[in-house]
Amino acid sequence: MGTGYEGVWTLGEIRNGEISSVSYELLAWGKKLSDKLGVKLSSIVLGSNIKERIERLFHFGADVVYAVDHPRLEHFLPDVHARICEALVKEYKPEILIASATTYGRTIMPILAAKLETGLTADCTDLDIDTKERILLQTRPAIGGNVMATIKTPNHRPQMATVRPRAKRPLNPDRARKGELILKEYPTEFYRSQYRWISFEKDESSDSPIQEADVIVSGGKGMKDEKNFEMLYELAKMLDGAVGASRAVVDMGWIPYSHQIGLSGKTVSPRLYMAIGISGAVQHIAGMSSSEIIVAINKDPDAPIFKVADFGIVGDALEILPALLKRLSSDEGDTDG
Ligand SMILES: Cc1cc2nc3c(=O)[nH]c(=O)nc-3n(C[C@H](O)[C@H](O)[C@H](O)COP(=O)(O)OP(=O)(O)OC[C@H]3O[C@@H](n4cnc5c(N)ncnc54)[C@H](O)[C@@H]3O)c2cc1C
Repeated sequence: MGTGYEGVWTLGEIRNGEISSVSYELLAWGKKLSDKLGVKLSSIVLGSNIKERIERLFHFGADVVYAVDHPRLEHFLPDVHARICEALVKEYKPEILIASATTYGRTIMPILAAKLETGLTADCTDLDIDTKERILLQTRPAIGGNVMATIKTPNHRPQMATVRPRAKRPLNPDRARKGELILKEYPTEFYRSQYRWISFEKDESSDSPIQEADVIVSGGKGMKDEKNFEMLYELAKMLDGAVGASRAVVDMGWIPYSHQIGLSGKTVSPRLYMAIGISGAVQHIAGMSSSEIIVAINKDPDAPIFKVADFGIVGDALEILPALLKRLSSDEGDTDG
């Protein structure tokens, strides 16, 4: 293992000229790791005309930002971005480098890991530190999603991982927070590329309104029947939210796949997640455990969903939901507030 590696780095992303929200999510992950290690948290950001935007990375937790601002970085050319990241890592030697499992992160991190001759764990759902060994614990589904594996990179540095977007909420920004900006410049040959940028076309199918919702009301097999989902739509409407579902009910055709939350569905991080008649299988939890507040309704007091829930109601959802809807609609009609 190389010596002299220290600090946690995140790979910031620019989208449409702005720092994208995944960069702030990554800082929340990074902060958890850097606090446990007692080291600085830094972020790399590569782009064109980005200087004014960098401050926000400090507000969201970065202590140091390594920025490269160059017109050739306006569009994502993988070889150019990887070359610059490689130079930065070799010069400053972070012990951990994490990126989001977006197109950007998924493209650049494998190139970088190969160049740096280190490992990479892709698509993690959790990251932590083994404080005794000071090593990164990288958790991700394995064996077809049937187990969650925790992977270590004991012999090489940096330890590299990508994490699923929206698997963590950004920290609350502190607008007074300042940090150290290191603006780097590289010679012209760094910007040569074997690629030519033609255009950017958004994959409309990759985003779903459910991932933007502040409130998600999700139903599982415990809802007993497709028609009972009407109550979930009604509740979601009252709470200005969206309806989610477990895979079991998607498989039964009660609701389209675009609503599925979990490992093979969407990863969400709303302010409020209600899991109604959902057992809480690891594959479901992988998609919603970073929600701010989790409320579970389940008639089985031992259902695993209660392990991640902040509030649990043990009972029959088909009795509780009508009562809840009645109560909320009478509150809405109550003009005294
Ligand atoms: C590779 C792989 C990927 C997967 N990906 C996903 C995924 O993305 N998302 C996902 O959700 N699953 C996924 N799964 C499936 C997952 O393992 C579970 O089978 C699924 O989440 C179970 O759905 P459920 O909780 O609705 O049903 P069940 O596990 O059958 O749970 C139903 C729950 O409802 C409760 N209940 C019953 N009646 C009532 C009532 N009247 N009132 C209140 N509670 C009641 C029961 O106590 C039970 O806890 C995946 C599995 C694999 C192998």
